[in-house]
Amino acid sequence: MTDIEIMSGEETRHARALFEQLFAELSAIGLAPNGATTRLAWTVEAAQAADWFDRTSGQLGLRVEVDRNGNRWAWAGNPAVGAITTGSHLDSVREGGRFDGALGVLSGLIAVHLLQRRGDLRAPMAVISFADEEGGRYDTPTFGSRAMLGALDVQAILERRDREGVTLGEALAGAGLDPAAVGPDPERLCQIGAFVELHIEQDTLLTEREAPLALGTQILPHGRWRIDLHGEANHAGTTPLAIRRDPMLTLAVAIEAARRVAGEEGALATIGKLEVSPNATNAIAERVSLWLDVRAEDDAVIGRTVQRITDAVGADADATGIGVEVKRESFTGAVRFSPRLRERVAQVLAAHGIEDVPMGTGAGHDAGALAGAVPTAMLFVRSANGASHSSRELASVEDCVFGIGALAEVLAALSERVDEDG
Ligand SMILES: [Zn+2]
Repeated sequence: MTDIEIMSGEETRHARALFEQLFAELSAIGLAPNGATTRLAWTVEAAQAADWFDRTSGQLGLRVEVDRNGNRWAWAGNPAVGAITTGSHLDSVREGGRFDGALGVLSGLIAVHLLQRRGDLRAPMAVISFADEEGGRYDTPTFGSRAMLGALDVQAILERRDREGVTLGEALAGAGLDPAAVGPDPERLCQIGAFVELHIEQDTLLTEREAPLALGTQILPHGRWRIDLHGEANHAGTTPLAIRRDPMLTLAVAIEAARRVAGEEGALATIGKLEVSPNATNAIAERVSLWLDVRAEDDAVIGRTVQRITDAVGADADATGIGVEVKRESFTGAVRFSPRLRERVAQVLAAHGIEDVPMGTGAGHDAGALAGAVPTAMLFVRSANGASHSSRELASVEDCVFGIGALAEVLAALSERVDEDG
């Protein structure tokens, strides 16, 4: 709870009622009996979420346009170049939560509605629901924003298949898009003068600080490495221990080293995916492939962490006759949000007595993908328990409504500035 009041009592009650009604509607889409939310891109659930977005936008007096990459833009006023924009995404990971992405889209719609209701909308504004932010179906995170930028070569991966064998091209066509037209969209990009994304915190920093809201500083650098360990397949019942070349033992060293080194370096290291061949109960493994995900405050820490883990793996492998191949699959350096925009947003919040709690995040976001091309900022609403990508994801209604009020103030102030700049 917080004592700071951003909106009048009447407006707070209005925003809260609207939030509770619309969030309940949205949360019902893709909800499983166990409480988990699954809304993968270009599926029936994604279409239902898109319908919800279109219908709700219409009810709030906004007009929706869909761009060539499947991003949905709800406009207050006529579409314009250099507009102040907000939003997030409505897709989820498999078995995810109700707040990740959804909170930002809904908060944007309500915040713009509040400004219209106050008669405080000075320039056209858009609420954007970006397509496939999670990449849960085709391993294409921040699809909509990166495709628009030209930072994701969609044409090269149209044949990629999901678990059911449906290609990306088929899925896009099924969602009413023209697969041949998906890609860079500079005209749309020009419509974004600034993008402010509100998101659930996915951490416990704000609970520790007893603050309802944080202002993003950067998205932490992160990378993914694949390590292949080659041993020798053999019979589990007839091969003496002394002559085995078992890559599973080196895997154990990798798992232990990842945890220990990450702790010592102040990084996060995770081995969450494995492939074992032949993957049989009665056979010593021939090959183990593991994926190592590492994130940290800066690139150098990541480099050191990965080096130390692979050194430990290499030393064990040398001693036990295991072959090792390490391949970097991806690396994204730190993404800093626009310092100028951040300062402006911090001023707006300070004017309402809201403390500037800076926060870096280890998760990717559309605001991060766009940061190299347009000024972007992020507001984080306190997580009740830090959980995310899980049915336990939670934020209090009070904190969500507080976030909506803060977002409305930020959008209003930024659009004044657009006015001034002429
Ligand atoms: Zn998200």
